[in-house]
Amino acid sequence: MITIDGSIGEGGGQILRTALALSLITGKPFRIEKIRAGRQSPGLLRQHLTSVNAAAAVGDAETSGASLGSTHLTFNPGKTKPGDYHFAIGTAGSTTLVLQTVLPALMTVAATSRLTLEGGTHNPFAPPFDFLEKAFLPLLKRMGAKVETKLVNYGFYPAGGGKLEVTIHGSSKLGQMDLPERGDIKRRLAKAVLCHLPRNIAERELSIVQKKLSWPKKWHLVETPTNALAPGNFVSLEIECEQLTEVFTGFGERTIAAEAVADQAALAARRYLASEAAVGEYLADQLLLPMALAGGGSFTTLPPSRHTTTNIEIIKKFLDIPITCEQTNNRVWRIQIG
Ligand code: AMP
Repeated sequence: MITIDGSIGEGGGQILRTALALSLITGKPFRIEKIRAGRQSPGLLRQHLTSVNAAAAVGDAETSGASLGSTHLTFNPGKTKPGDYHFAIGTAGSTTLVLQTVLPALMTVAATSRLTLEGGTHNPFAPPFDFLEKAFLPLLKRMGAKVETKLVNYGFYPAGGGKLEVTIHGSSKLGQMDLPERGDIKRRLAKAVLCHLPRNIAERELSIVQKKLSWPKKWHLVETPTNALAPGNFVSLEIECEQLTEVFTGFGERTIAAEAVADQAALAARRYLASEAAVGEYLADQLLLPMALAGGGSFTTLPPSRHTTTNIEIIKKFLDIPITCEQTNNRVWRIQIG
């Protein structure tokens, strides 16, 4: 039985999700203690418990400790069962993170699965749907995955109510991928999305993007979808390059000024643009697992985050694969898997 200390490194939910995903794929049982010990409210919150229950359903697993607030869990997987699943978090917890828990296993079993996920779709501290669709999934597809996603309803903190539909056509093996550079930038888009909120919020946000990044108005877009239970806002900055698309997000909150929301996204985009790295901070920690499953891959990235270094440690507990991080200049690191 693999044992994991959930307090190591970044000490958050990613340790648990990576362990669940890899346990499903390798069939190796694990026990995790001190779940999310590095967070203000440690233990399993609704989103993490939904990830555990989703993994248990997909992998026909036996679990102990799978309850709200629990700081330990034992997970013993059976055989992965592709099929139709409905996972509702019951709060604004992130649907994309629940998806990332079960996607690797369902992607690598040769059958079709259909998932309906309910909860948040654009939450702080999680990949928003736009990042999943524009940045992460296109790279997975290049590695051979066949995944289709549909955003049925937007879900924002604190009300939730979002809905994603995902179809996964599993195939047995992922191919390796190398991303040494991003290539030339082909397109930039600054998108301000408002649900049930006054339009001037978007105008203020986009004027900050224009000021901070010098992105002219022809690259701006305001969207006002109505398929959301409650008000919500985010700014999504898309940078489409020859080799990949990166997405940087600022999340609106009741207590945060529109200018600060846009600033959050603009700063992250500026940091990426100032470096020659192919892959941004979040994409880096999320690409490790599929690349390790493919048996290898590499990319250049910004200085590795604690999420990245912690994820490497957890992957190495399940898979016998070398992963190295090497600094190549003051703003670029190269991560080699396999
Ligand atoms: P944790 O904090 O351990 O629950 O993990 C959060 C996960 O969400 C990590 O894999 C991050 O890469 C990802 N994440 C957080 N914020 C963003 C963002 N703005 N865009 C994309 N991914 C994100």
